[in-house]
Amino acid sequence: MPDHGPAEKLARRIDAEGPITVHEYMEAGNAHYYASRDPLGVAGDFTTAPEISQMFGEFVGLWLADLWMRAGRPEGACYVELGPGRGTLAVDALRAMAQAGLHPQVHFVETSPALRGAQQTRLPKAKWHDSVDTLPRRAPLLIVANEFFDALPVRQLVATARGWCERVVVHSGERFAPVPGPPVEDGLLPVALRKAPPGTVFEICPLAWSIAGSLASRIAVQGGAALILDYGHIRSAHGETLQAVRAHHFADPWRDPGAQDLTAHVDFEALAAAARERDVRVMGPVEQGSWLRVLGIDVRTAGLVKAEPKRAAEIEAAWMRLTSPHQMGSLFKAMAFVAASWPRPEGFD
Ligand code: SAH
Repeated sequence: MPDHGPAEKLARRIDAEGPITVHEYMEAGNAHYYASRDPLGVAGDFTTAPEISQMFGEFVGLWLADLWMRAGRPEGACYVELGPGRGTLAVDALRAMAQAGLHPQVHFVETSPALRGAQQTRLPKAKWHDSVDTLPRRAPLLIVANEFFDALPVRQLVATARGWCERVVVHSGERFAPVPGPPVEDGLLPVALRKAPPGTVFEICPLAWSIAGSLASRIAVQGGAALILDYGHIRSAHGETLQAVRAHHFADPWRDPGAQDLTAHVDFEALAAAARERDVRVMGPVEQGSWLRVLGIDVRTAGLVKAEPKRAAEIEAAWMRLTSPHQMGSLFKAMAFVAASWPRPEGFD
């Protein structure tokens, strides 16, 4: 018998309690998904930028180290990563930072026991947190989040003839389906969308807003910066972006919750709005490809190829994947929050 554990549990919950929100569906699916496996890499479900090339983490580390140096090398700075996956980005970033004389304490915000284990083998001295609330309160924070915000649960709101409604999930057999549920306050919608035609979907991610707001407050008070790298849109827009990925292919998000990765586009405008209420400078978002180019990825690629000519094809393929507008270069964006008292960061002009 195949293991239908989490999907069956959700189906039973819906039978007992009635339809659940899309938010609850995504939250329950991903909690099980991440807790039970290492989803990254060729043998897993998807590959992220740090797993493609060491250059990615190195540029993140150099970007943070450059800011820290120009801020006057403040004592006790902490490296903080949200959802660090296998710890690959952290290893590459910390190596680059060490070359600049920066040796920060490492703090990880990670809820998955399976991935905490993978991180611990590579960075045994790190400290782990269940949420951003317990991060150190006095030190400047150098924060990174790569493909973290896209995994946070979204609410889907849908326009109907009776007004905007919460989207809820029903099921029949193994198939789940979203349907309009109870009405929602118009205040949740951008003014331009309030009269949108029936069927229009708008996604919001309250957890992302609250985390972005907390990070910005911490940086405003403690000093430091947060670098957010993810796929998504620069302006808030309607449209359904919830998707599932399994074994490197798109899958039906309404099947098999808990067995495949559920993500949604990050709404960078909403994250920026949450941060702007605090005393920080919001930079970007800019396209990942252009951010990496300004920092020097073309030169670094040429240098790596020269040092290891036998690996030229692999190194150039990685460069292409990270920067090409047809691959991760345009869909992925970089955005930063920087303490108002800190210098302007590189890569965002
Ligand atoms: N940043 C890594 C991994 C991205 S996958 C990389 O680029 O390779 C998403 C990561 O976020 C995983 O480590 C997952 O366990 C973690 N995660 C997902 N939801 C989370 C939550 N609510 N709180 C903390 N970590 C979470």
